Amino acid sequence: MKISAARVTCFRLPLVAPLATAHGAIATRDGALLEIATRAGLRGFGEAMPLAGFGLESFEESQGALAAIAQGLLGCDVRELGAALARGGEAAPHAPAARAAADCALHDLAAREAGVSVASLLAGGSATRAFVRASALVAALEPEAAALGARRLAAAGFDTLKLKVSADLEHELRRIAAVRSALSRPIRIRLDANGAFAAREAEAALASFARFKPEFVEQPLATHDAASWARLRSASPVPIAADESVRDELSVRALLEADAVDWLVLKPAALGGLAAAWRIAELARARGVRVVVTSFLDSAIGRTAALQLAAALPGTATAAGLATGSLLAGDLASMPDGALLAVPAEPGLGVRPDLDALARCRSGASLELAA
Ligand SMILES: [Mg+2]
Repeated sequence: MKISAARVTCFRLPLVAPLATAHGAIATRDGALLEIATRAGLRGFGEAMPLAGFGLESFEESQGALAAIAQGLLGCDVRELGAALARGGEAAPHAPAARAAADCALHDLAAREAGVSVASLLAGGSATRAFVRASALVAALEPEAAALGARRLAAAGFDTLKLKVSADLEHELRRIAAVRSALSRPIRIRLDANGAFAAREAEAALASFARFKPEFVEQPLATHDAASWARLRSASPVPIAADESVRDELSVRALLEADAVDWLVLKPAALGGLAAAWRIAELARARGVRVVVTSFLDSAIGRTAALQLAAALPGTATAAGLATGSLLAGDLASMPDGALLAVPAEPGLGVRPDLDALARCRSGASLELAA
């Protein structure tokens, strides 16, 4: 069951409207789709979608890394998943987004070969979830529009809402207050600062957010320094979550050993894939730190991979940040976007790119490799 062919196709997905983040506004998402195939006709898919602000490789670097990885995977046996994953990692040690593409395509292919879902493959036969609750992003910046958006999302069944918060604290407090008062039933609120605050500002911000009882505040600090996080956590009246600071196992170990976080945000697309995210989740569990799986404006391929991970993780379910499909004006495949996401149970990832959709959003020629 050896990999005999690989193809890399670049694409660009437009957003419905530019999304403001502390790293700048995002209007389009560039990605590279990796397809690997065996001679028997089994195919696996994964995507690389580097994201500014996460310390990932640039899109151009990712493309180059993916070409090297694809070449390295030719001849690998998908029944020896660990060895194939290691091969992908060796080919591009400094390109986590490209590694994530290879990791996803290999899991897809290995799960198809084994006749199980990717979630079952990850869980090693343990029970997995058929459904995963999703959180939704309140994207509107003005308090009134945000309140309206939040009410709409609550009516659509979401019980966890997330708001990006900027360093303009006065504005954000008005916005969060408007959202809180617009909601007529108990809804969890998550705040995401994307590293907007310096240490002292962060302390003041967390203290002022406390009245809204957020489930957690994501990445309050720009720094990845574990000691700074530990100081902030000991002063914080609200739980804090690391996201951009979750870069690899080493950075996570430093945060966990310093008792610096309450939550970790796991983005398989930024961590080098499902295997790396799984290992980090195990480290967190051993420390009693909770995890939340998210994607960030990934295509349906990346979101489904993250969904399979969320379905496989043991322990108490948390709402996953995977209902981001409606922010995209175009996608590689259709995937339901709602408060309760059904996890595809068929063998493999459970999604494959729609060829018409890929033709519409592809950018440039494909790279084709064969053994
Ligand atoms: Mg975040």
